[in-house]
Amino acid sequence: MTIGVLCLQGAFAEHEARLQELGAQAVELRSAEDLQQPMDGLILPGGESTTMGKLLRDLDMLQPIQEKIRSGMPVFGTCAGLLLLAEQIENDSRRHLATMSITASRNAYGRQLGSFFTRQSFAGNGEIPMTFIRAPYITQVGDGVEVLAVVDGKIVAARQGNQLVTAFHPELNPDTTVHAYFLQMVSHSMQAEGRN
Ligand code: GLN
Repeated sequence: MTIGVLCLQGAFAEHEARLQELGAQAVELRSAEDLQQPMDGLILPGGESTTMGKLLRDLDMLQPIQEKIRSGMPVFGTCAGLLLLAEQIENDSRRHLATMSITASRNAYGRQLGSFFTRQSFAGNGEIPMTFIRAPYITQVGDGVEVLAVVDGKIVAARQGNQLVTAFHPELNPDTTVHAYFLQMVSHSMQAEGRN
């Protein structure tokens, strides 16, 4: 199983490490050309959504990634990656890939609670470590969006079809629950297409 990891900026190396631990292969996506390699899923890491959105446009990667997602390729966005996928961002006029029916609030925890750590249950799988860094949270979900984790009454993980988002950074902790969940999504999608 091969997962394309967007490597323009942010916490991509940690995602690659988690994928390798689970036996998946990571391919680094730094240009439009890299998107032509065969891959079974995509990871959009945390970082800075405005910077990543600008780089995606400047490098002509925005539209091809949008097309892959629309045609059903599983995608996992963490933190800034969640903002790239959100159809609406409450406190930002910019939209990026905008393929997922969620509304997000950017830097939603404010300055004082900019970064924090907690444990909470994820997708009914028991508690997992959750590291938040200047994180967004989800304020509204559209049809077909399943809420996977809630912290202090705020939605911090959700799924819509083949799109998975977390407001926290699962790649920064050794726990591989969320990456394993995503690889399961990828595996089901490959089976549905008769590819394994
Ligand atoms: N605050 C960042 C943004 O708005 C996201 C932070 C992160 O990815 N850790 O893009």
